[in-house]
Amino acid sequence: MRNKILIIIFLYCTISFGQPDVRKEINIPDILEYKTLKADFHMHTVFSDGYVWPTVRVEEAWIDGLDVISITDHVEYLPHKNDVNTNRNRSYEIATNRAKQLDIILIKGGEITKAIPPGHFNTLFINDVEALNIIDPYDAIKEANNQNAIVFWNHPGWREKDEIPIWRDFQEKIYNDKMIHGIEIVNVLTYYPLAFKWALEKDLIIFCNSDVHSPTGLKYDNESKMFHRPITLVFAKARTKSAIREALENRRTAAYYEDKILGKEQFLKPLFDECIEVKKKNIIINDEKSAFFQIRNKSEIDMTLIKNNINNQNLEYPDEVIIPSGRTVMIKIKGEMKELSQKENVKISFIVKNFIIAYDKYLEKEFEIKLISNFSE
Ligand SMILES: [Zn+2]
Ligand SMILES: [Zn+2]
Repeated sequence: MRNKILIIIFLYCTISFGQPDVRKEINIPDILEYKTLKADFHMHTVFSDGYVWPTVRVEEAWIDGLDVISITDHVEYLPHKNDVNTNRNRSYEIATNRAKQLDIILIKGGEITKAIPPGHFNTLFINDVEALNIIDPYDAIKEANNQNAIVFWNHPGWREKDEIPIWRDFQEKIYNDKMIHGIEIVNVLTYYPLAFKWALEKDLIIFCNSDVHSPTGLKYDNESKMFHRPITLVFAKARTKSAIREALENRRTAAYYEDKILGKEQFLKPLFDECIEVKKKNIIINDEKSAFFQIRNKSEIDMTLIKNNINNQNLEYPDEVIIPSGRTVMIKIKGEMKELSQKENVKISFIVKNFIIAYDKYLEKEFEIKLISNFSE
């Protein structure tokens, strides 16, 4: 009888609660004194040309493992206006409570949507999106700046020939007037190498955003290494709105799309080091000609290392090493082990193919190990 009651209680609970919602935790570590926050600063709802309700954007962010989002409905393009309220501040207002409940940081935004050129510009930390509804593009961006917003250029190569962006007089003018602060180097799954170059040269904030219109699950696959939601990594002093703003103002971001991280070396270097662990620095050699050393990848991202021949000390090792996410690889090195074990340290140099620190430059990584001979002389 007692068992029967327990079974009934169990079944009742299963039916009434079901499987709890599950959040993905994106395993990209904190660096230096910063938290590595996962953000998406570009998405749409039914309040512009999107197909979801604002609270759903917050729930998706929770499921997708994000810390921060901004809903950036178009200011000028409201194709659902016969069916949905056209108050441009509503999507933020509606999403606010759900964001608080789920501990997602919601930053108020809007997309100034002009013809191309001059293009589309997102505004973050805006107060009144309605006030951005100004015909002249320069005046609209100026109004965003008057509201102390952070402004960035969206999908800069979109609708340009071969998707190559062009830095026109308009960009030059708003840049000289300090009215543009960032640029999307990745939008949806398109990477704009030239935008990355400009971001570094002109000290613009690097953004990498989904620009999602449909439910994220229809567009992206978070289980996939290549088709996951594009993410802006924000290296912030705390998980707060003001710390995010401070991080953006000081250009502490990186792009994470496909299996790649793109950003400044000063952040990518410590990030790679936090992702990777050399299992043992002191290696007992295998035989007179070879030894093995192990590298563990603690992160979310599959790492691709390419042999860098800069300081080849009569040492042979594979031209390419892939370290899958969450795995350890054993790398064979070949050479005159007795001779190498006399040295203080042996350096094994790689280029990290998926950590991109400039337009055409990859992060370089040198592993230092000590070879220990167990052969008696
Ligand atoms: Zn756009
Ligand atoms: Zn958009």
